[in-house]
Formats: sequence, structure tokens, C-alpha cells
Amino acid sequence: PTFKLAIVGRPNVGKSTLFNRLVGKRLALVDDQPGVTRDLREGEGKLADLRFIVVDTAGLEDVDDDSLQARMRRLTDRAVAEADVVLFVIDARAGVTPLDQTFADILRRRGGRILLGANKAEGRAGLSGAMEAYSLGLGEPIPFSAEHGEGMEALYAALQPIADTF
Ligand code: GDP
Ligand code: MG
Repeated sequence: PTFKLAIVGRPNVGKSTLFNRLVGKRLALVDDQPGVTRDLREGEGKLADLRFIVVDTAGLEDVDDDSLQARMRRLTDRAVAEADVVLFVIDARAGVTPLDQTFADILRRRGGRILLGANKAEGRAGLSGAMEAYSLGLGEPIPFSAEHGEGMEALYAALQPIADTF
């Protein structure tokens, strides 16, 4: 028995970095250049004793601002439709952006199990951004650093009770 976790969020918040950390292979390309990762990518996730399927939503990096929202909505819809749990990620250093708010509204309306991740929170850098994330109305933000591997125990604590139901 396993569950499927979809990682969603606007471009550049660190979705693919987290995907790579959970999957442990470099299946999703991480790059600062636009146009590198595309659409949905699946892998076998592992976090301590938890095993699950992870979906990384990409394909958002290569579109202009005008089409970004529509494409985000389509891809997120696809990822979320298949997922048992959605991890909505923000950049804790950047704080909550209008695009994050739009995204959070879409997810909240859809319902289902949604976790809120505040990435790039290594050290104390992301503290205020993580606090800001409470305003999204998606519950308690989970601060972590996908790049540095910090806060993975908090992510585990959030996923573990969900895993138990599968
Ligand atoms: P995506 O577009 O959401 O998939 O984001 P990426 O995983 O491609 O990461 C975008 C940028 O954020 C890259 O330069 C990453 O190195 C950086 N990044 C990802 N995770 C972290 C983190 O935990 N801390 C910091 N400081 N940077 C990060
Ligand atoms: Mg990516």
C-alpha cells in the first residue's frame, strides 16, 4: 500500500530539488535556465521508513507570464487529480507572492489533502516567509530546505499519519 504525493507550486520554489531529494536519483532536471524541465515527472519517493510515489510538476519554467497561470492551472489540475496528497510549496525567502495566493485559492477550492511546504528555509532565512504562509489558509507551514536537507523530519511528521491511512 502506498500513496501518491504531488509537489506543486510556482516556478523556482524548489519543487524539483525536493523531488530529487525524495527520489534520490536525478530524474527531474534542476536548472536555473528556463525550459529545462517539462510537465509531470514521477519517481519512487523515500523518506525514512515511508515509501510513496512522487510527482513533480514542471513545464512551467518555459512560459511567459501571460500563459503561466493557465498552464499552471492545467498542470496542477492533472497532478492533483491523480494525487492522494498535494504538497504546495512556497519559497520562504521570497515570502508569499500573488501567484502563490492564486495557486493556494485554486487548491483550497479543490479540497483534498493539502500540505503547505515553505522551502529555502535553511538556517533562519525563511522564518518570516514561513510565518507569512499561514495567511494562505492551508494550515501550518512546514519549513524545510530541499537543497540542504533540513526540516525533512517535519515533512515526515506531516506525511506519516497520511501514510498510515493507506
Ligand atoms: P522548481 O522550479 O520549483 O522545480 O525549482 P528548482 O528545484 O528548479 O529550484 C529553483 C532554484 O532554487 C534552484 O536554483 C535551486 O538550487 C534553488 N533551491 C532549491 N531548494 C533550495 C533550498 O532549500 N534553499 C535554497 N537557498 N535554494 C534552493
Ligand atoms: Mg522544476
